[in-house]
Amino acid sequence: MAEAAVAAQAPPDEEGDECLREYRHLLSPDLLAGQVAFITGGGSGIGFRIAEIFMRHGCRTVIASRNLERVSEASKKLVAATGQQCLPLSIDVRQPQTIVAAVDEALKEFKRIDILINGAAGNFLCPASALSFNAFKTVIDIDTIGTFNTSKVLFEKYFRDHGGVIVNITATLSYRGQALQVHAGAAKAAIDAMTRHLAVEWGPNNIRVNSLAPGPITGTEGFRRLGGKFAEKSSLFDTIPLQRAGNKTEIAHSSLYLASPLSSYVTGTTLVVDGGSWLTSANSFSALLGIASSSAKL
Ligand code: NAP
Repeated sequence: MAEAAVAAQAPPDEEGDECLREYRHLLSPDLLAGQVAFITGGGSGIGFRIAEIFMRHGCRTVIASRNLERVSEASKKLVAATGQQCLPLSIDVRQPQTIVAAVDEALKEFKRIDILINGAAGNFLCPASALSFNAFKTVIDIDTIGTFNTSKVLFEKYFRDHGGVIVNITATLSYRGQALQVHAGAAKAAIDAMTRHLAVEWGPNNIRVNSLAPGPITGTEGFRRLGGKFAEKSSLFDTIPLQRAGNKTEIAHSSLYLASPLSSYVTGTTLVVDGGSWLTSANSFSALLGIASSSAKL
Protein backbone atom coordinates (compact mmCIF):
# COMPACT_ATOMS: atom_id res chain seq x y z
CA MET A 1 0.00 0.00 0.00
CA ALA A 2 1.38 3.43 -0.95
CA GLU A 3 2.01 5.87 1.90
CA ALA A 4 -0.99 8.18 2.32
CA ALA A 5 -0.65 11.53 0.58
CA VAL A 6 -0.32 14.39 3.04
CA ALA A 7 -3.92 15.48 2.41
CA ALA A 8 -5.24 12.05 3.50
CA GLN A 9 -2.86 11.41 6.39
CA ALA A 10 -4.48 10.98 9.81
CA PRO A 11 -3.23 13.47 12.41
CA PRO A 12 -1.95 11.96 15.71
CA ASP A 13 -4.60 10.95 18.24
CA GLU A 14 -4.86 9.25 21.64
CA GLU A 15 -6.96 6.14 22.24
CA GLY A 16 -8.81 7.10 25.45
CA ASP A 17 -10.27 10.35 26.76
CA GLU A 18 -6.82 11.93 27.07
CA CYS A 19 -5.50 15.11 25.54
CA LEU A 20 -3.08 14.92 22.62
CA ARG A 21 0.56 14.58 23.67
CA GLU A 22 1.60 16.81 20.80
CA TYR A 23 -0.36 19.06 18.50
CA ARG A 24 0.73 20.89 15.36
CA HIS A 25 -1.56 23.75 14.39
CA LEU A 26 -2.70 23.59 10.78
CA LEU A 27 -4.73 26.76 11.25
CA SER A 28 -4.13 29.95 13.21
CA PRO A 29 -4.05 29.22 16.98
CA ASP A 30 -6.35 32.21 17.52
CA LEU A 31 -9.02 31.08 15.04
CA LEU A 32 -11.64 30.97 17.84
CA ALA A 33 -10.01 33.50 20.18
CA GLY A 34 -12.45 35.13 22.58
CA GLN A 35 -15.27 32.73 21.71
CA VAL A 36 -17.18 30.27 23.88
CA ALA A 37 -18.45 26.84 22.82
CA PHE A 38 -21.17 24.85 24.60
CA ILE A 39 -20.53 21.16 23.87
CA THR A 40 -23.02 18.46 24.88
CA GLY A 41 -21.30 15.11 25.36
CA GLY A 42 -18.03 17.06 25.75
CA GLY A 43 -16.69 14.84 28.54
CA SER A 44 -15.86 11.85 26.35
CA GLY A 45 -14.97 10.57 22.91
CA ILE A 46 -15.51 12.86 19.96
CA GLY A 47 -16.96 15.68 22.10
CA PHE A 48 -13.89 15.68 24.35
CA ARG A 49 -11.55 16.02 21.37
CA ILE A 50 -13.70 18.78 19.85
CA ALA A 51 -13.42 20.65 23.16
CA GLU A 52 -9.64 20.19 23.17
CA ILE A 53 -9.10 21.31 19.57
CA PHE A 54 -11.38 24.34 20.03
CA MET A 55 -9.47 25.29 23.20
CA ARG A 56 -6.18 24.92 21.33
CA HIS A 57 -7.60 27.57 18.96
CA GLY A 58 -8.34 30.10 21.70
CA CYS A 59 -11.90 29.06 22.59
CA ARG A 60 -13.30 28.70 26.11
CA THR A 61 -15.66 25.77 26.51
CA VAL A 62 -18.59 24.46 28.50
CA ILE A 63 -18.71 20.65 28.48
CA ALA A 64 -22.05 19.23 29.59
CA SER A 65 -23.47 15.75 30.11
CA ARG A 66 -25.29 13.71 32.77
CA ASN A 67 -22.23 12.52 34.67
CA LEU A 68 -20.78 15.55 36.50
CA GLU A 69 -17.78 13.57 37.74
CA ARG A 70 -16.89 12.63 34.17
CA VAL A 71 -17.11 16.19 32.80
CA SER A 72 -15.23 17.56 35.82
CA GLU A 73 -12.35 15.12 35.28
CA ALA A 74 -12.34 15.90 31.56
CA SER A 75 -12.31 19.63 32.26
CA LYS A 76 -9.19 19.31 34.44
CA LYS A 77 -7.34 17.51 31.64
CA LEU A 78 -8.47 20.03 29.02
CA VAL A 79 -7.44 23.05 31.10
CA ALA A 80 -4.04 21.49 31.88
CA ALA A 81 -3.34 20.71 28.22
CA THR A 82 -4.54 23.96 26.67
CA GLY A 83 -4.43 26.70 29.34
CA GLN A 84 -7.96 27.76 28.39
CA GLN A 85 -11.02 27.86 30.65
CA CYS A 86 -13.46 24.95 30.63
CA LEU A 87 -16.66 24.85 32.69
CA PRO A 88 -18.04 21.34 33.39
CA LEU A 89 -21.81 21.17 33.93
CA SER A 90 -24.39 18.46 34.46
CA ILE A 91 -27.32 18.29 32.03
CA ASP A 92 -29.71 15.71 30.67
CA VAL A 93 -30.63 16.86 27.17
CA ARG A 94 -34.01 15.13 27.57
CA GLN A 95 -34.90 17.59 30.35
CA PRO A 96 -35.10 21.20 29.11
CA GLN A 97 -34.97 22.69 32.62
CA THR A 98 -31.48 21.18 33.15
CA ILE A 99 -30.33 22.80 29.89
CA VAL A 100 -31.83 26.16 30.90
CA ALA A 101 -29.98 26.02 34.23
CA ALA A 102 -26.67 25.08 32.53
CA VAL A 103 -26.93 27.79 29.88
CA ASP A 104 -27.75 30.37 32.59
CA GLU A 105 -24.65 29.28 34.51
CA ALA A 106 -22.48 29.35 31.38
CA LEU A 107 -23.67 32.87 30.51
CA LYS A 108 -23.05 34.02 34.08
CA GLU A 109 -19.50 32.70 33.84
CA PHE A 110 -18.56 33.72 30.28
CA LYS A 111 -21.17 36.37 29.30
CA ARG A 112 -21.44 34.85 25.81
CA ILE A 113 -21.88 31.61 23.88
CA ASP A 114 -20.88 31.59 20.22
CA ILE A 115 -20.94 27.91 19.28
CA LEU A 116 -23.20 24.99 20.15
CA ILE A 117 -22.03 21.43 19.44
CA ASN A 118 -24.86 18.91 19.84
CA GLY A 119 -22.84 15.74 20.47
CA ALA A 120 -24.85 13.92 23.17
CA ALA A 121 -26.19 10.59 21.92
CA GLY A 122 -26.62 6.93 22.72
CA ASN A 123 -26.22 3.95 20.39
CA PHE A 124 -25.84 0.17 20.22
CA LEU A 125 -26.26 -2.54 17.58
CA CYS A 126 -29.68 -4.22 17.63
CA PRO A 127 -31.95 -5.72 14.99
CA ALA A 128 -35.34 -3.95 14.82
CA SER A 129 -37.13 -7.17 15.76
CA ALA A 130 -35.25 -7.34 19.07
CA LEU A 131 -35.45 -3.62 19.87
CA SER A 132 -37.89 -2.75 22.67
CA PHE A 133 -40.34 0.11 22.16
CA ASN A 134 -38.61 1.89 24.99
CA ALA A 135 -35.10 1.42 23.54
CA PHE A 136 -36.16 3.02 20.24
CA LYS A 137 -37.84 5.89 22.08
CA THR A 138 -34.83 6.49 24.34
CA VAL A 139 -32.49 6.96 21.38
CA ILE A 140 -34.92 9.39 19.74
CA ASP A 141 -35.30 11.20 23.08
CA ILE A 142 -31.57 11.70 23.59
CA ASP A 143 -30.38 12.26 20.02
CA THR A 144 -33.24 14.01 18.24
CA ILE A 145 -35.29 15.64 20.97
CA GLY A 146 -32.14 16.41 22.97
CA THR A 147 -30.69 18.25 19.96
CA PHE A 148 -33.90 20.25 19.54
CA ASN A 149 -34.14 21.05 23.26
CA THR A 150 -30.56 22.31 23.47
CA SER A 151 -30.76 24.30 20.23
CA LYS A 152 -34.02 25.96 21.32
CA VAL A 153 -32.67 26.92 24.74
CA LEU A 154 -29.52 28.41 23.19
CA PHE A 155 -31.65 30.27 20.63
CA GLU A 156 -33.90 31.79 23.25
CA LYS A 157 -31.18 32.58 25.78
CA TYR A 158 -28.54 33.99 23.44
CA PHE A 159 -28.40 33.17 19.71
CA ARG A 160 -31.65 34.97 18.72
CA ASP A 161 -30.10 38.33 19.66
CA HIS A 162 -26.41 37.70 19.04
CA GLY A 163 -26.22 35.09 16.26
CA GLY A 164 -24.25 31.89 16.61
CA VAL A 165 -23.30 28.62 15.03
CA ILE A 166 -24.70 25.14 15.66
CA VAL A 167 -22.99 21.90 14.67
CA ASN A 168 -25.09 18.75 15.06
CA ILE A 169 -23.08 15.52 15.20
CA THR A 170 -25.11 12.99 13.20
CA ALA A 171 -24.23 9.81 11.25
CA THR A 172 -24.49 8.26 7.79
CA LEU A 173 -26.56 5.27 9.02
CA SER A 174 -29.81 6.22 7.25
CA TYR A 175 -28.21 6.84 3.85
CA ARG A 176 -28.31 3.12 2.99
CA GLY A 177 -30.60 1.84 5.75
CA GLN A 178 -27.72 0.40 7.83
CA ALA A 179 -28.65 -2.99 9.36
CA LEU A 180 -29.10 -3.12 13.15
CA GLN A 181 -29.31 0.68 13.32
CA VAL A 182 -32.96 1.67 12.73
CA HIS A 183 -33.06 3.55 16.05
CA ALA A 184 -29.91 5.65 15.60
CA GLY A 185 -30.37 5.99 11.83
CA ALA A 186 -33.89 7.36 12.25
CA ALA A 187 -32.79 9.65 15.11
CA LYS A 188 -29.85 11.12 13.18
CA ALA A 189 -31.83 11.50 9.92
CA ALA A 190 -34.35 13.58 11.85
CA ILE A 191 -31.50 15.75 13.14
CA ASP A 192 -30.24 16.29 9.58
CA ALA A 193 -33.76 17.43 8.67
CA MET A 194 -33.77 19.70 11.74
CA THR A 195 -30.46 21.18 10.55
CA ARG A 196 -32.12 22.32 7.31
CA HIS A 197 -35.31 23.61 8.99
CA LEU A 198 -33.43 25.62 11.59
CA ALA A 199 -30.91 26.92 9.04
CA VAL A 200 -33.87 28.37 7.10
CA GLU A 201 -35.73 29.78 10.10
CA TRP A 202 -32.73 31.11 12.01
CA GLY A 203 -30.51 32.27 9.11
CA PRO A 204 -31.94 35.83 9.37
CA ASN A 205 -30.72 35.88 12.99
CA ASN A 206 -27.16 35.22 11.73
CA ILE A 207 -27.24 31.67 13.00
CA ARG A 208 -25.59 29.00 10.88
CA VAL A 209 -26.75 25.39 11.43
CA ASN A 210 -24.93 22.38 9.96
CA SER A 211 -24.56 18.66 10.58
CA LEU A 212 -21.31 16.71 10.71
CA ALA A 213 -21.68 12.96 10.02
CA PRO A 214 -18.66 10.92 11.15
CA GLY A 215 -17.79 7.43 9.91
CA PRO A 216 -16.18 4.85 12.24
CA ILE A 217 -13.96 6.79 14.65
CA THR A 218 -11.30 5.01 16.73
CA GLY A 219 -10.91 5.53 20.47
CA THR A 220 -14.63 6.15 21.05
CA GLU A 221 -17.53 4.47 22.80
CA GLY A 222 -19.33 4.36 19.45
CA PHE A 223 -16.41 2.45 17.91
CA ARG A 224 -16.40 -0.06 20.78
CA ARG A 225 -20.17 -0.58 20.77
CA LEU A 226 -20.71 -0.73 17.01
CA GLY A 227 -18.20 -3.47 16.22
CA GLY A 228 -15.29 -1.20 15.28
CA LYS A 229 -12.70 -3.30 17.14
CA PHE A 230 -13.90 -6.42 15.35
CA ALA A 231 -13.89 -4.67 11.98
CA GLU A 232 -10.34 -3.44 12.61
CA LYS A 233 -9.10 -6.92 13.56
CA SER A 234 -10.80 -8.49 10.57
CA SER A 235 -9.36 -5.93 8.09
CA LEU A 236 -12.92 -4.83 7.22
CA PHE A 237 -11.81 -1.21 6.99
CA ASP A 238 -9.86 -2.14 3.85
CA THR A 239 -13.18 -1.76 2.01
CA ILE A 240 -13.42 1.93 2.98
CA PRO A 241 -12.17 4.11 0.09
CA LEU A 242 -9.50 5.68 2.33
CA GLN A 243 -8.86 2.17 3.76
CA ARG A 244 -8.90 3.07 7.44
CA ALA A 245 -11.11 4.26 10.27
CA GLY A 246 -11.00 7.95 11.18
CA ASN A 247 -9.80 9.42 14.45
CA LYS A 248 -11.25 11.95 16.89
CA THR A 249 -8.84 14.71 15.87
CA GLU A 250 -10.11 14.46 12.28
CA ILE A 251 -13.70 14.95 13.47
CA ALA A 252 -12.59 17.83 15.68
CA HIS A 253 -10.80 19.49 12.75
CA SER A 254 -13.92 19.27 10.58
CA SER A 255 -15.99 20.65 13.48
CA LEU A 256 -13.48 23.49 13.76
CA TYR A 257 -14.10 24.32 10.10
CA LEU A 258 -17.88 24.33 10.57
CA ALA A 259 -17.75 26.34 13.80
CA SER A 260 -15.30 28.98 12.58
CA PRO A 261 -15.52 31.87 10.11
CA LEU A 262 -13.81 29.56 7.56
CA SER A 263 -17.35 28.35 6.78
CA SER A 264 -19.08 31.74 7.09
CA TYR A 265 -21.37 31.06 4.08
CA VAL A 266 -22.13 27.40 4.90
CA THR A 267 -25.50 26.59 6.44
CA GLY A 268 -28.18 23.91 6.21
CA THR A 269 -25.82 21.19 5.03
CA THR A 270 -24.24 17.96 6.25
CA LEU A 271 -20.48 17.47 6.11
CA VAL A 272 -19.75 13.74 5.86
CA VAL A 273 -16.38 12.89 7.44
CA ASP A 274 -16.02 9.16 6.86
CA GLY A 275 -13.24 8.44 4.38
CA GLY A 276 -15.99 7.47 1.91
CA SER A 277 -17.09 4.66 4.22
CA TRP A 278 -20.87 4.78 3.70
CA LEU A 279 -20.42 4.27 -0.04
CA THR A 280 -18.70 0.90 0.30
CA SER A 281 -18.98 -0.57 3.81
CA ALA A 282 -20.81 -3.84 4.53
CA ASN A 283 -24.58 -3.67 4.95
CA SER A 284 -25.67 -7.29 4.94
CA PHE A 285 -28.18 -8.00 7.69
CA SER A 286 -26.99 -11.54 8.41
CA ALA A 287 -23.27 -10.68 8.20
CA LEU A 288 -23.73 -7.73 10.55
CA LEU A 289 -25.60 -9.91 13.03
CA GLY A 290 -22.47 -12.08 13.07
CA ILE A 291 -20.24 -9.05 13.61
CA ALA A 292 -22.51 -7.83 16.42
CA SER A 293 -22.25 -11.11 18.31
CA SER A 294 -18.49 -11.50 17.67
CA SER A 295 -17.71 -7.93 18.66
CA ALA A 296 -19.65 -8.40 21.88
CA LYS A 297 -17.11 -11.10 22.78
CA LEU A 298 -14.01 -8.94 22.10
P1 NAP B 1 -19.62 8.92 23.68
O1 NAP B 1 -18.26 9.17 24.22
O2 NAP B 1 -20.46 7.87 24.36
O3 NAP B 1 -20.41 10.30 23.62
C1 NAP B 1 -21.74 10.45 23.94
C2 NAP B 1 -21.84 11.51 25.02
O4 NAP B 1 -23.21 11.85 25.19
C3 NAP B 1 -21.30 11.08 26.38
O5 NAP B 1 -20.36 12.05 26.81
C4 NAP B 1 -22.52 11.07 27.30
O6 NAP B 1 -22.14 11.51 28.61
C5 NAP B 1 -23.44 12.06 26.57
N1 NAP B 1 -24.86 11.80 26.82
C6 NAP B 1 -25.53 10.63 26.62
N2 NAP B 1 -26.81 10.77 26.98
C7 NAP B 1 -26.96 12.07 27.41
C8 NAP B 1 -28.04 12.82 27.92
N3 NAP B 1 -29.27 12.28 28.06
N4 NAP B 1 -27.83 14.11 28.26
C9 NAP B 1 -26.61 14.66 28.14
N5 NAP B 1 -25.54 14.01 27.67
C10 NAP B 1 -25.71 12.72 27.32
O7 NAP B 1 -19.58 8.47 22.16
P2 NAP B 1 -18.84 8.95 20.80
O8 NAP B 1 -18.69 7.67 20.06
O9 NAP B 1 -17.69 9.83 21.03
O10 NAP B 1 -20.03 9.75 20.06
C11 NAP B 1 -20.10 11.17 20.02
C12 NAP B 1 -21.07 11.59 18.92
O11 NAP B 1 -20.61 11.15 17.64
C13 NAP B 1 -22.48 10.99 19.05
O12 NAP B 1 -23.43 11.93 18.64
C14 NAP B 1 -22.44 9.81 18.10
O13 NAP B 1 -23.73 9.42 17.65
C15 NAP B 1 -21.62 10.40 16.97
N6 NAP B 1 -20.99 9.40 16.10
C16 NAP B 1 -19.96 8.63 16.59
C17 NAP B 1 -19.36 7.70 15.75
C18 NAP B 1 -18.20 6.88 16.25
O14 NAP B 1 -17.61 6.09 15.49
N7 NAP B 1 -17.82 6.99 17.50
C19 NAP B 1 -19.81 7.54 14.43
C20 NAP B 1 -20.88 8.32 13.99
C21 NAP B 1 -21.45 9.26 14.83
P3 NAP B 1 -22.93 11.07 29.98
O15 NAP B 1 -23.00 9.59 29.97
O16 NAP B 1 -22.12 11.67 31.06
O17 NAP B 1 -24.29 11.72 29.87
